[in-house]
Amino acid sequence: MDSYIRLLLNNKAWVEHKLQLRADYFEKTSADQKPEFLWIGCSDSRVPAEEITGTEPGELFVHRNVANMVVHTDFNMLSVLQYAVQVLRVKHIIVCGHYGCGGVRTAMQQRDLGLINKWLRHIKDVYHDNKDELEAIKNEQDRYKRLIELNVVEQVSHLAETSFVQRAWLTDPALTLHGWVYDIHTGLIKDVVKTDASDLKDDVYRYQFE
Ligand SMILES: [Zn+2]
Repeated sequence: MDSYIRLLLNNKAWVEHKLQLRADYFEKTSADQKPEFLWIGCSDSRVPAEEITGTEPGELFVHRNVANMVVHTDFNMLSVLQYAVQVLRVKHIIVCGHYGCGGVRTAMQQRDLGLINKWLRHIKDVYHDNKDELEAIKNEQDRYKRLIELNVVEQVSHLAETSFVQRAWLTDPALTLHGWVYDIHTGLIKDVVKTDASDLKDDVYRYQFE
């Protein structure tokens, strides 16, 4: 049997399971979506957003890319973000990184891997901006873990620097940005940073709205 067939069979079993729990399961979930959370996570297969947070279809609006980045020129991420805050009006935006992230690991190295270098360049900048703190950590594994945390902090600040989030804060100051790191060895999520105000590192990032 081809390996992908298992996925289709699993799907049928999952449908049966859900319908056993409640007959109107799909009727309910197909009606509309009102997720309270936008999840920006890594593409890594070991970090399934819904599974590790115990959430059901309809609860998380999800964007994933290599190393859970918030890059200002990424129209894909920005489109998801705009829809999430303006239309869905999510209450929380979570950037979730993870220990053991291959993207962050690669960014710490000097190998030329082509296009992915361009994407990971943003993490090299995080390393550069925090070089003193990082290089004071002698154990390489610990330095790697700290860079993963600092990357999440940086991506959360990028969210705060977007006009979409700043505009949303005008009408919904309770919109909260979170930076989390998932530990693939324990399954536990570490809460690294939380911000619910326009706490910008420089006013040059602050937009004025008419
Ligand atoms: Zn990753």
